[in-house]
Amino acid sequence: MLAASSQKVEKVAVKLNKGLVEVYTGNGKGKTTAAFGLAFRALGWGLRVYVIQFMKLGTYGENRLASKIDSNLVVEYVGMPYFIAWEEDIPAEDRKRIRNVVIRPRGSPPEEYAEKTMKAFKTMKEQVYDGNWDVVIMDEINVAVYYDLLPLQEVLDFIDNRPIHTEIVLTGRKMPDEIIERADLITDMREVKHPYAAGVPARKGIDY
Ligand code: ATP
Ligand code: MG
Repeated sequence: MLAASSQKVEKVAVKLNKGLVEVYTGNGKGKTTAAFGLAFRALGWGLRVYVIQFMKLGTYGENRLASKIDSNLVVEYVGMPYFIAWEEDIPAEDRKRIRNVVIRPRGSPPEEYAEKTMKAFKTMKEQVYDGNWDVVIMDEINVAVYYDLLPLQEVLDFIDNRPIHTEIVLTGRKMPDEIIERADLITDMREVKHPYAAGVPARKGIDY
């Protein structure tokens, strides 16, 4: 984890003149996978891609491949082995039977989780300012913001002060308006159909 800081910085073959801000949000499937599709395309032109996955523990198919695919790709992650939920989002009758979820009053996230998330965000920022990254993907960042693991202002400051050539991609549901205002591109994944609703559980290789 967080091994990027020890990586050697290489010159890239192609540079973006101006990096834009992209947002993939909405309740339909495809946000994270679209971001990795973009990473794949960028790598094809020799761009350097830094991905940080929030709220995740590196247990997805993409994490198994990341270190093998290209030295211009780094995929970091930061998470804890439990989910967080705000009390007010969970109906009282469901609270007892939900497992592996830390249920908190809104605004009081687990401190250790917030500290860990902030540290990973800071490392990412240092990398981006020093490291000549062309595309930075912050996967599920808005979920981290929603659970107060990362102050929104930190994210806004980073977007506003990013290096000119760096494209930024933010994914996840519940994208805050302040980020939407700053975005150049927003794709709202709308759920039309998802097999989960028909009782098909998440499938390895497709959903994780
Ligand atoms: P993916 O990682 O497959 O591109 P996503 O990033 O759009 O999905 P998230 O909101 O991050 O979706 O959801 C995480 C998990 O939930 C993934 O395993 C994803 O496949 C699954 N998922 C996404 N949308 C839905 C949905 N509408 N109903 C049920 N499960 C979903
Ligand atoms: Mg996702």
